[in-house]
Amino acid sequence: MTRTVRTLVVAGHGMAGHRLVAELRGLDAAGAWRVVVLGEEPHPAYDRVALSSYLDGRSAADLALAGPGSHDPLLELRLNTGVAAVDRAAHTVTTTAGDVVAYDALVLATGSRPFVPPVPGHDLPGCFGYRSLGDLDAIRAAAVPGRPGVVIGGGLLGLEAANALRLLGMEPHVVELAPRLMPLQVDAAGGGVLGLRVARRGLRIHCGVATAAITAGPDGRVASVVLADGSSLAADVVVFSAGVRPRDELAGPAGLARGERGGFLVDELCRTQDERIWAIGECAAVSGRCHGLAAPGYRMAASVARQLLGLGGEPFGEADLSTKLKLLGVEVASFGDAHAAAAGAVELSRLDEAAGTYAKLVLDADCRTLLGGILVGDARAYGELRPYVGLGLPAAGHRLLAGTA
Ligand SMILES: Cc1cc2nc3c(=O)[nH]c(=O)nc-3n(C[C@H](O)[C@H](O)[C@H](O)COP(=O)(O)OP(=O)(O)OC[C@H]3O[C@@H](n4cnc5c(N)ncnc54)[C@H](O)[C@@H]3O)c2cc1C
Repeated sequence: MTRTVRTLVVAGHGMAGHRLVAELRGLDAAGAWRVVVLGEEPHPAYDRVALSSYLDGRSAADLALAGPGSHDPLLELRLNTGVAAVDRAAHTVTTTAGDVVAYDALVLATGSRPFVPPVPGHDLPGCFGYRSLGDLDAIRAAAVPGRPGVVIGGGLLGLEAANALRLLGMEPHVVELAPRLMPLQVDAAGGGVLGLRVARRGLRIHCGVATAAITAGPDGRVASVVLADGSSLAADVVVFSAGVRPRDELAGPAGLARGERGGFLVDELCRTQDERIWAIGECAAVSGRCHGLAAPGYRMAASVARQLLGLGGEPFGEADLSTKLKLLGVEVASFGDAHAAAAGAVELSRLDEAAGTYAKLVLDADCRTLLGGILVGDARAYGELRPYVGLGLPAAGHRLLAGTA
């Protein structure tokens, strides 16, 4: 009796694509699927969440994600090879090398690209994104110790990029359109504390101002960033970290639907309108919404691996956007309804300017149920508070508000 082995093609070997392959190969004991992964980058999948550590002593090999590799006869990984086109009628993809690869199932896991605001000069030599090992190699090569570098965008990744410039010996500036740093995660008071603390680390912060243009010096390279208030900042390097956009450029020519704000439109099981094609990770607009974190992409990968094996996938549902991180030595945590969006929500906060800490808890209208919170400067209570979202206020909450934490 002959066994039919079907071919799964995965477009993109990033964090979600890698997880899909690991899940599938882990579950597929019978060897029902042969997997061909086409990855545009020269590196096999790596821990993009820890990307910044590449400029702080870790190598590409240190960041590589463990998993099934070259010894696996049912896995073929082609690096430096992108998917250039999908032919849904023929069930094939054409690679950037011009090869045609047939698929029984196709999973799109192409991630995102940094959003570059279309200001004049945005494409000058010396302007970079902050997304890949290649970007960091390019930034490292362009960095000039002692000279200024400007990061456009003061969110989480922008602050990481500014720290990267600092580690390369540059003088980092951060330009943020919103009136505070990390506007998605923290409120005005939290942003104030964060701004003061990162300024002490040598970052120069410019909030509430747009970037108008980037100008070149006589050598044709970036020389300055002109701001909308008329001022300008000298810059030998400019790093864009103003959000991301899903890599959905394969959708249009293949006749696949896009979400309203981009991304391959998929249902709760990550299925496109084509029964052979799924999308996972940051490129997937699940019921119209893209998710810019690793954990949601891992859930999508696990669900699709199970569907491929006929085991039934888990519908995606809600994503948890809680964050806890340590940036430039400053702890920041944001969880649940951090911005008190719920009707009647009550905000209780405590600011300690001397200590450089800020804590806010959001409770429901009757002040019994914890809805969310923000912690800046000291996020030790996060682990105790977060599981109580939707429940009562734990002792850590009372201690925080009393200033005895
Ligand atoms: C500096 C930094 C810090 C981060 N910190 C955090 C964090 O603290 N917590 C968190 O949850 N998330 C964080 N993230 C986000 C996290 O890295 C992403 O959510 C995650 O990598 C998404 O996985 P993905 O597979 O969808 O996309 P990616 O990991 O970007 O992988 C997509 C891959 O597909 C490739 N590709 C694109 N188009 C094609 C094509 N046509 N053919 C073949 N290959 C293609 C890309 O080159 C890339 O290799 C961070 C990201 C960065 C850059």
